[in-house]
Amino acid sequence: MFRGETTADAVVIGGGLTGCTAAYVLAHAGLRVILLEADRLASGATASGIGAIVPQPDASFLSTTGAIGRRAARSAWVSTRRGAADFATTLKRLRIACDLDPIPFVINAPHSADAVPLRREQAARKQAGIDAPWLSASAAGAALGTDSAGALRGGGAFTFDPVLAALGLAKAAASAGATICERSPWRRTRFTLK
Ligand SMILES: Cc1cc2nc3c(=O)[nH]c(=O)nc-3n(C[C@H](O)[C@H](O)[C@H](O)COP(=O)(O)OP(=O)(O)OC[C@H]3O[C@@H](n4cnc5c(N)ncnc54)[C@H](O)[C@@H]3O)c2cc1C
Repeated sequence: MFRGETTADAVVIGGGLTGCTAAYVLAHAGLRVILLEADRLASGATASGIGAIVPQPDASFLSTTGAIGRRAARSAWVSTRRGAADFATTLKRLRIACDLDPIPFVINAPHSADAVPLRREQAARKQAGIDAPWLSASAAGAALGTDSAGALRGGGAFTFDPVLAALGLAKAAASAGATICERSPWRRTRFTLK
């Protein structure tokens, strides 16, 4: 528990998966870090997270291209994939026991009407140089055990336990020198010129 004032290079507010990851990354990079969690670590949205590391943004590539252009959309897809891989690698490297497992990543078109826009999505991804292999209806149906008129196949997805991951990252952050405080609501930050 922390009360009062302190000085740090970085103040991380919130000890969910995001805050614990940030605290680890910043402390590992050599910054003096304090993480303030109002309640208990990993007790917020992290406790009910779906536990999937998804290697792409939660959006269609086609509509993202329409909104921000192909170059920016491609960059979002490439960096999300890299981020997912980096995150899984970091959990493994730190030997955090969080049931990390690779899983197939498939976007299914359950009916033939769904396959038409999914084929368009695939073409847009291919044009932008993003790997987007197509699974035939029979292969997708067999792999998924459900109705399929075809599917887009991806790689680089994982399942994991987000609470165990957050707690492990907080421990790694503390080992790297971060101060981790539970039951310590943040009230105010004053920034220095540095
Ligand atoms: C759009 C979306 C996509 C998602 N996608 C995925 C996904 O792909 N895979 C997946 O596994 N999960 C996903 N999730 C769910 C996922 O579980 C959560 O997004 C993630 O765990 C949230 O972690 P967090 O650290 O950001 O938030 P939280 O776990 O809620 O942590 C925030 C913490 O801040 C603390 N806090 C708040 N105010 C203060 C204060 N003043 N001082 C100190 N502490 C404070 C809270 O107590 C809390 O513990 C998704 C959720 C959303 C909304």
